[in-house]
Amino acid sequence: MEFNNHDELVAASKNAAKKWRLVPAPQRGEVVRQFGNELRIQKAALAKVITAESKKIVTEAEGEVQEAIDMCDFATGLSRQLYGLTMPSERPDHRLQELWQPIGVVGCITAFNFPMAVFAWNFCLASVCGNSIIWKPSPHSNGCADALKNAWDKVAGEHKDLVLVLKGGNEEAVALCKDSNIPLISATGSTQMGKELAPIVSARLGRTLLELGGNNAAIICPTADLDLTVKGVTFSACGTTGQRCTTLRRAFVHEDIYEEFMQKLHAYYATLKIGDPSDKSSQLGPLISKSSYEDMQKVLESLGDKDVKVHGGQRLDVGDPQEFYVMPAIVEVLKVEDEMLNETFAPILYVKKFTELNNAIQMQNNVKQGLSSSIFTNDMRESELFLSSEGSDCGIANVNIGTSGAEIGGAFGGEKDTGGGRESGSDAWKTYMRRVTATVNYGKELPLAQGVEFDES
Ligand code: NAD
Repeated sequence: MEFNNHDELVAASKNAAKKWRLVPAPQRGEVVRQFGNELRIQKAALAKVITAESKKIVTEAEGEVQEAIDMCDFATGLSRQLYGLTMPSERPDHRLQELWQPIGVVGCITAFNFPMAVFAWNFCLASVCGNSIIWKPSPHSNGCADALKNAWDKVAGEHKDLVLVLKGGNEEAVALCKDSNIPLISATGSTQMGKELAPIVSARLGRTLLELGGNNAAIICPTADLDLTVKGVTFSACGTTGQRCTTLRRAFVHEDIYEEFMQKLHAYYATLKIGDPSDKSSQLGPLISKSSYEDMQKVLESLGDKDVKVHGGQRLDVGDPQEFYVMPAIVEVLKVEDEMLNETFAPILYVKKFTELNNAIQMQNNVKQGLSSSIFTNDMRESELFLSSEGSDCGIANVNIGTSGAEIGGAFGGEKDTGGGRESGSDAWKTYMRRVTATVNYGKELPLAQGVEFDES
């Protein structure tokens, strides 16, 4: 359905939410299950849309649709598990209980690099919780939004308006943030975007769920299995052409294994197949845009007069000349350079030696972002330290796995400038509901809490 303006669209979404919340949660889950089946049928076709718009290689694009399917399965089960706790009441003949109710319309602003999965994280949870969604996709991926909306419409029956797509740029996103009919804004994208939008939502005391930029690091210790490590590091640093929020951007390597690690890393990088993302043999496609390429080059140029060794980073002539293919860069640094403190959304991996693990952990944590982190070690004291309160300060901490490629079962998100939001698995669904604390008196007296007396004496 076409809407004439923002207000009409929001009104339709509100109506859809009102109707939908009356459907029992397990029946909502059943519709989401059918949506998942529709995605299964369309998996290859949907992946092609991702490859065309986001320039992801075939296996990653198919993996992204699979992630949306997995979310449907997860949410279907969840629809029978939206549990509230029952707490012992301090008063006789009373029950103290938590109830979880839908919050209404969820505004969902998404980035170009996960044009279907992030919508699925949000929609699958929001919908089984009884809410509708207005989706403002990245201007790079409107076709992905159309494709998922069509898939939803096929299974939705009278609930088509549960998913409404609002195409546009910053202005449309800001309008969603300002609208007090929308109690929750879930926004995925750069930290800059989060810093601009969050104050707009909080000015009306709305809720935000922020999934923002990362600056992820791996620590590579002397006992690490170097072949496994090099694979994990390369996939995390180069996969999706360095354009994942969880992309590995910094590696701290123990001095005892530095030379061997670097030699193996260069050898592995030399085997990378960079080219047309729709060719199944390609491991890396092009960057999303000319401006991404220019941002990457600007950073590499600014490193030119510093005490660093830059390998790679140049533009490659391996496909459509309109596209920006690059050789992923490895930058060996002697000291922490300013460039390492920011997220450049391109494949640049900074590598630095370390001597003491505590110092490596400190360098890892010493950035504004707090999304994903890894340690490669076979020493359990090192991995346990890394996972302890004195270790990684990120929302994601991995052992012997790179920083990217999370499963849907865990809650996804990060701290500090990453925004603090959690989506996908575990109890992330609670963000999409309002919590009601209900106290029920089934007795004949009216005792007050904390022993307060109010009777006439
Ligand atoms: P982006 O910030 O340019 O855009 C993201 C979305 O926000 C788009 O829909 C865009 O239209 C909107 N937007 C951007 N700036 C805005 C503004 N000033 N006002 C209103 N709306 C605005 O991000 P991108 O280039 O599409 O994606 C890359 C960024 O997203 C990276 O920083 C990456 O780390 C981050 N990201 C984070 C996660 C996560 O889960 N933490 C996931 C994917 C991407």
